[in-house]
Amino acid sequence: MDTATVTASDLVGCRYRYPQRLAHPEIPRLPAELERRERLAAARAAVQAALPTRRALGDGRGARPFARIDLADTPGVELETLEALAAGADLITGAVFIGDGWRVRVDVLALTADGTYLPVTVSNHRAARRDEGSTMLAVATNRLSLSAPMAVPYRHRHHVSDGYRLAMASRALAEFGLDSGLGGVIGQDRTRAFVAETAGLQPALDDALRAGWADQPRRLKECASCRFWELCEPELETMDDISLVLPGDKARTYRERGITTVQELIDARLGEPSALAAAWRAGVPLLARVPEVTGPRADVEIDVDMEAYLDQGAYLWGAYDGRDYRGFATWAPLGGAEEAANFAEFWSWLMQRRRAAHQSGQSFAAYCYSAHGENHWLRQSARRFHGKHRGVPSEAEVQEFITSGDWVDVFAHVRSQLAGTEGTGLKIVAREAGYAWADGDFDGEASVGARRTAVATGPEALAAREALLRYNEDDTRATAAVRGWLRDGAPGVQPIS
Ligand code: SF4
Repeated sequence: MDTATVTASDLVGCRYRYPQRLAHPEIPRLPAELERRERLAAARAAVQAALPTRRALGDGRGARPFARIDLADTPGVELETLEALAAGADLITGAVFIGDGWRVRVDVLALTADGTYLPVTVSNHRAARRDEGSTMLAVATNRLSLSAPMAVPYRHRHHVSDGYRLAMASRALAEFGLDSGLGGVIGQDRTRAFVAETAGLQPALDDALRAGWADQPRRLKECASCRFWELCEPELETMDDISLVLPGDKARTYRERGITTVQELIDARLGEPSALAAAWRAGVPLLARVPEVTGPRADVEIDVDMEAYLDQGAYLWGAYDGRDYRGFATWAPLGGAEEAANFAEFWSWLMQRRRAAHQSGQSFAAYCYSAHGENHWLRQSARRFHGKHRGVPSEAEVQEFITSGDWVDVFAHVRSQLAGTEGTGLKIVAREAGYAWADGDFDGEASVGARRTAVATGPEALAAREALLRYNEDDTRATAAVRGWLRDGAPGVQPIS
């Protein structure tokens, strides 16, 4: 197979996607993928605008004028990259290297004091997490090539595709004796590049390049958002592949035992996996793991759902009390006083309802479906804003609440009692509970795009805000519907026999 166009992202995840991409160039990218590309383009533009164009006053004049070369991704860019390197440019953006069967676009190459280059990739991942006990190197985006990286109290967060990209870049630079041995990632915080050594990335790149490609599909989590699913699904069905029921690694132990098809799994009579396989075959989405399904209950019940934008903050805390929905929302830039005030308002409303219930001798429960995101942003909001903005609780107050019996994860109740052929996510379980969303196609990915529109002005922004509020309200109401349905014993769900 021709591997001249292998990119870092081809090496991550499914090994059948790249062959499909080559075989079916006519299949267009899905809207969600286009949105992701748009977000990356926006990130690159933000970084491009922040990069230096000249030396600052304190930098001295240098031996020659500051040289920044911005390359466009057009035919011949590989050659232009080499010319820019040969010219010793201080900053090169949009560089492209061709390696042994692969191609990498490097967002920034920054000249270092010893004449080598620091490759930097722009990503929408979080590149590092603040951690007072750790140290890593970072350099401000607007000082790339002008300042050396300095130690900062952060911990590196590795993302496989970023790692491959930097490994490829440093490998290409090494061929010209220009590899600094370091690579940088500008993640969700566009103001700085987090820098780490690249030598440790090379073995993983070697392995990924050597691993070869698949000649048939195998269902993975990423199939749900892959443009080739319409081609792969019938292939999998023809093979009756076990991954249709047990995607990814979940089928490994069965494959090792020689069970490779759904029918073989059904026939093996192995308890829950075999029952789920039979249920999948019959089009039944959920089975009960327990003889009697139950749901949580309290006198005062509030369903909560939060929406966050990437790593930047939580902009919407929605609450449904069985009668009314309240969406505590901010459309201002995140991380500042508006986000803090919005969070404080939500928190004080929730705690006031909690206090009132307790004072009148009633039990209280705030519910959410899979509390991971909510817990993260409850803690983060307290960490970032407590003491700086009125009404924001301390981390200890938040911790007291989320570890109390008043904060209930409905997903935990579902997962312990039900098994699903397509998982037990809110959309799947609520559908079985008879709940229908107003915007059936709106999902987490769409909400990220809508948030970008919502922060602008004009009719489109207003429509996006309404869509986000509706989506959030639906999730709170769906959580309430699932609770009620669990309490009714999950009617219609058969036990695993
Ligand atoms: S649909 Fe799944 S198996 Fe097919 S190419 Fe995409 S990720 Fe791979």
